[in-house]
Amino acid sequence: MATEKRDYYEVLGVARNATDEEVKRAYRKLAVKFHPDKNPDDPHAEEKFKELGEAYDVLMDPDKRVAYDRFGHAAFASGGAGFGRGAFHDPFEIFREVFGGSGFGGGIFETFFGGGGGAGAEDRRRGSDLRYDMQIRLEEAAFGAEKQIEIEKLDTCEKCGGSGAAPGSRRISCSTCGGRGQVVSSRGFFQISQTCPRCHGAGEIIEKPCEKCRGEGRVEKLSRVKLQVPAGIREGTRLRSLRNGEAGIGGAPPGDLYVVIHIKEHQIFQREGDDLYCEVPIPFSVAALGGEIDVPTLEGKAHLKVTAGTQSGQMFKLRGKGIVNVNGRGHGDLFARLIVEVPSRLNGEQRRKLEEFAALCGEENTPIRKGFFEKAKEFFK
Ligand SMILES: [Zn+2]
Ligand SMILES: [Zn+2]
Repeated sequence: MATEKRDYYEVLGVARNATDEEVKRAYRKLAVKFHPDKNPDDPHAEEKFKELGEAYDVLMDPDKRVAYDRFGHAAFASGGAGFGRGAFHDPFEIFREVFGGSGFGGGIFETFFGGGGGAGAEDRRRGSDLRYDMQIRLEEAAFGAEKQIEIEKLDTCEKCGGSGAAPGSRRISCSTCGGRGQVVSSRGFFQISQTCPRCHGAGEIIEKPCEKCRGEGRVEKLSRVKLQVPAGIREGTRLRSLRNGEAGIGGAPPGDLYVVIHIKEHQIFQREGDDLYCEVPIPFSVAALGGEIDVPTLEGKAHLKVTAGTQSGQMFKLRGKGIVNVNGRGHGDLFARLIVEVPSRLNGEQRRKLEEFAALCGEENTPIRKGFFEKAKEFFK
């Protein structure tokens, strides 16, 4: 095509001082719109898609951008500012790089092991694996839960059942690659063979594509996925939900969904492995006299006998009251650290009684304090 080359900023619809982020955002939006896969019937889409890739390539590369700002397109003509015509990356490579795999998804998703280079045709058409980060409560992690998540993803098109074909439509040989499934492009001295972007290596395309999915067999929609969270699951665990990733192209197998578990901070309990830790305030009179207190557990309250003379910070173990081991190796324990609470407001009578008590005690009743001063004697000289 001998048409005049368009200005790269104009191609992406961004200002001349656009940041990398703005360039990237503009590219993402437009590249999805004009991707040849999405526009099998529009011969100009591929042209536009390539133009977008080139514009993105130049504006995201500081050196190329400076050269372009100075010399315009001449910077990349042979004999220009040293870049030469082979300076641009392959537009499909750029697309994969920006989107990470082949997914049109975005937002909360990352495609996992998406579209590797030398994969076979069937692999290229397989839906991408998806990642979803899920927050659950500590109780749900401890006892297990059935969760339902809602994700926006490329799912099987209902209209064509995923085949991508309009009713009664045949499959015909792909004209882009001549039915070979591969296209050869030259870059400088090199010839590079790539999977055909139109038929994804299948060598054939649908004569009349389904209107709803434009022949792709999948459409972006909100899908619900049920997920069983096993009891005892730990932070960062990755659950694999088979075949719940992105739908494949034209009925190819779907990818898998990987759900990464994040456990929200709990108001009372901290978790360490399968053990739980919590702090329980107790009145100083109970600490001194001994008694029974209630300790919270994930299953409700438990009773704990406090011996007379319990000190603040003392730890009590409630055996088996931790979290069940996810691999079936028993239960963890619950460690309750008792915090002795000193009354901060005394009424007249309480105050008198306490003064009486203090007078009765003298130094006799504070062995820890006594020991401390024994050791610290020399500092008080
Ligand atoms: Zn369809
Ligand atoms: Zn083809």
